[in-house]
Amino acid sequence: MKLNKNGLLIVISGPSGVGKGTIRKALFEMKNHNLVYSVSMTTRKPRENEIDGVDYFFISREEFTKRIKENKFLEYAEFVGNYYGTPIDKVNEQLEKGNEVVLEIEVDGALQVRKKVNDAVFIFISPPSRKSLHERLINRNTEKIDVINERMAKAEREFKLAYKYDYIVVNDDVVNAADKIMAIIRAEHAKTQRTINNYQKMLEED
Ligand code: 5GP
Repeated sequence: MKLNKNGLLIVISGPSGVGKGTIRKALFEMKNHNLVYSVSMTTRKPRENEIDGVDYFFISREEFTKRIKENKFLEYAEFVGNYYGTPIDKVNEQLEKGNEVVLEIEVDGALQVRKKVNDAVFIFISPPSRKSLHERLINRNTEKIDVINERMAKAEREFKLAYKYDYIVVNDDVVNAADKIMAIIRAEHAKTQRTINNYQKMLEED
């Protein structure tokens, strides 16, 4: 698959309840960046306070499966009974403009992106401990206990896949974790493999 390479694709991933959303919001509140969030599509019902088109595009299962057949997702996954996916058009549009596109997705989807886009940056958010993840899922009070248990079971598998990422950031403190992610993004821009072409052009022009 050909993705436009002008911008940087950043994949933030990790178990449900680890605080990806909160960290992402803290990241976007920081100054001097051109990060754009890729709003996913889901068949999950909206939670209280969630806004269609802002938190997710809430669509029917029928619409979602139609879009899968039409290859409209960069990646998608079924997660605890619902589909979640990244619309490819919007991602491409933003990368073309030279923006940094942030995906906040679960592990199976991230691994699909890993196979398709070889220069994306993959960041795994880890909880400080298993216990803290369980407590967070309970305290946020958005799911019933059986769904929480399913999400914890899923997290066990996700913990084991962290080694497939480029970076592991522990969410001990939201601002601290967001700072680390911004530092990673800035460092990625200076990577030799990303800068070498322009660098060589500069030498030739002198
Ligand atoms: P929630 O129901 O808590 O909003 O999301 C459940 C899980 O799905 C979270 O781990 C979240 O990061 C992930 N998720 C959200 N959007 C996407 C997406 O577009 N693709 C994939 N693969 N996972 C997503």
